[in-house]
Amino acid sequence: MVKENCGVVGVFSLDGANVIPMVIDSLRALQHRGQEAWGVAVPKKEPYKQIGLVSSAAPEFDKVTREYASPAAIGHVRYSTMGKSNLENAQPLKVRDLCIAHNGTIANVEELAGMVGGCTFTPQNVSDTLVAAKRLVSLMATNGSLGNALSILKNEMVGSFCFTFVSDDNAVYAARDPKGFRPMVLGFRKDINTYIVASESSAIAAVGAELIRDVKPGELLKLSNSGLESEMFSEEKTHSHCSFEFTYFAHPSSIMEGSNIYLARKRIGQYLAKKFPINDADIVIPVPDSARPAALGYAQELGVPFEEGLLKDRYSRKGPLRSFIEPHQSDRVEINRWIIPISSVIAGKHVVVVDDSLVRGTSSKAIIKALRRSGARKISMVITYPPIRFPCYAGIDFPSQDELVTFIDDGKEYDEKGMTEKVRQIIGADFLGYNDEKNLAEAVGIDVDSMCFTCSTGNYATLGIKPVFKTRAEIKGE
Ligand code: SF4
Repeated sequence: MVKENCGVVGVFSLDGANVIPMVIDSLRALQHRGQEAWGVAVPKKEPYKQIGLVSSAAPEFDKVTREYASPAAIGHVRYSTMGKSNLENAQPLKVRDLCIAHNGTIANVEELAGMVGGCTFTPQNVSDTLVAAKRLVSLMATNGSLGNALSILKNEMVGSFCFTFVSDDNAVYAARDPKGFRPMVLGFRKDINTYIVASESSAIAAVGAELIRDVKPGELLKLSNSGLESEMFSEEKTHSHCSFEFTYFAHPSSIMEGSNIYLARKRIGQYLAKKFPINDADIVIPVPDSARPAALGYAQELGVPFEEGLLKDRYSRKGPLRSFIEPHQSDRVEINRWIIPISSVIAGKHVVVVDDSLVRGTSSKAIIKALRRSGARKISMVITYPPIRFPCYAGIDFPSQDELVTFIDDGKEYDEKGMTEKVRQIIGADFLGYNDEKNLAEAVGIDVDSMCFTCSTGNYATLGIKPVFKTRAEIKGE
């Protein structure tokens, strides 16, 4: 299994204006979804790609804007777990007259590769998106339109996808998978007559456009000189929006399925305060940055002071980055090492620390150790996401079960209470409390049955697979 969870964008100007500056700005507003590499693509050219953050290439922006000038373009920021973070695997990718950018996971890429002539898949050297793109182009050759090709590919492909495409005949397309695992929204900037599709509305706001709506699961949009056209390539009745987007992945300013992420996170904190009312707490602090709104909600609900007890160092090499989506453990450790406690706030206090998730346990352990060194009297940890116990096959990097802190390999069976107690001991907190699916869905405002919680429940029915779990080394071809 290989994974790509990223940010995608597609922009089309009905006035024929050059949209490259808009693509660059929107990618910067999606940087939280991928910080390894980025790229843009326009018709009839090889895509432009760079390793690192979009902002690192600022001196190149003018040149890129001139050389790739086009009224139709797509863009991509990459967060991957597969192979090397090299330029070759960066996106967009070009296959014949179609450039493609992908956010999601293709869980059966080896099987799919078998359907593509001359494409031998090995985890080290071929992007799963390239396999999907090749299959899509060959389906288009035999079945006509992109919509027809997608209606076939969705049955062949296991996993999740949001695609943006730009074709050599100057059209931008956007497609969202039938279950709606990954987010995608449509916007319009009236003053310059320009459509934009993007993974999140943060990108739409960043370019001064207005959010029109979510792209529907199973919908294909076409943006061209004929305007906006929509067709459904799938009519699934049940949806599976990724719940992890709401607690961790998405930008707080984004509006997803009608819910603002910041407010949803704050409500999650309020629900957690009702579930775990730690009344003898002195202060509530967030683990920066995603947990901040939930910590505020928790503190306000309980009437306990909210404080900033941990600060991220913004100036070290990896300081501004998000640890969870860094591909290497050493980089994740470096980022967490530079979360600095404010001793004067913490010393002698019972501190409730609110975090957005407990995945590998790396950050939690380091943070609790640092809080103890800073003199915390008692440390209670409250997690806004339910226990993560199973790998994700729909686009988020929980690649192997043996890496998860909930994976207790001592030959004993644990119920949720027992597992929570084991994890509490591992991370060194005095108390540990996890959110649950019902609370999270209610706080977000989406029916629990329309959200994906597979990484917590292990129920892979929505993906239609019974996975055989592999180790990280097997997955990455290390
Ligand atoms: S398994 Fe978890 S992380 Fe993956 S899509 Fe479902 S909720 Fe999101």
